[in-house]
Amino acid sequence: MKIILLGPPGAGKGTQAKRLEEARGLIQLSTGDMLRAAVKAGTPVGLKAKAVMAEGKLVSDEIVIDIIRDRIQQPDCIKGFILDGFPRTVPQAEALDKMLGEFGWKLDSVIEMVVDEAVMVERVAGRFTCAKCGQGYHDSFKKPAKDGVCDVCGGTEFIRREDDRAETMQKRLAEFHAQTAPILPYYKSKGILRHVDGMAAIDDVTRQIEAILAE
Ligand code: AMP
Repeated sequence: MKIILLGPPGAGKGTQAKRLEEARGLIQLSTGDMLRAAVKAGTPVGLKAKAVMAEGKLVSDEIVIDIIRDRIQQPDCIKGFILDGFPRTVPQAEALDKMLGEFGWKLDSVIEMVVDEAVMVERVAGRFTCAKCGQGYHDSFKKPAKDGVCDVCGGTEFIRREDDRAETMQKRLAEFHAQTAPILPYYKSKGILRHVDGMAAIDDVTRQIEAILAE
């Protein structure tokens, strides 16, 4: 099964992708995570992407298309995957169709997570993750049971994304409207675009997604 989760930053794509990974054995392919890893490792791609990401702008189509082309050919992707944060422009969507076609694959569903953007800024500004295992938390909505200690692995170091600050988040939302929203009609015309209410509780959103995938 090959799925795209679409929505503005903070819509919950990563959270839901992780749940699908656990429940269905699909692989989460987050171009944001891959780019952050490249920045951390100081690779040539990371060096190019670093400043662009810090500003809340989009990395070039060429870079992310190459990353995805390499990644989906890895053996673990045979099981199927959830694209989280890709495609983000019409040329990326077209390139994806082309490469899936080359492998004889097709997309099963494109699921748009519909959210209230004013709430997204608050959601994103409060989020942080465990530096050791990547478990996600939030200052208001999901604190660790014991302050400063990860519920999952006991880690005591946490990371906040630099681009989650309110002013950068506004730029990321602007990029979403200018560049990513135009891919919605592209998938609508193919008859595979579906919607879920991304403002519902996390478990409820998972149920909505599962209902779509069960059809
Ligand atoms: P994300 O973790 O999906 O919010 O992505 C973080 C940042 O990585 C974005 O603000 C972009 O700068 C960059 N990025 C991630 N995915 C893409 C993509 N498909 N196209 C262009 N830039 C991307």
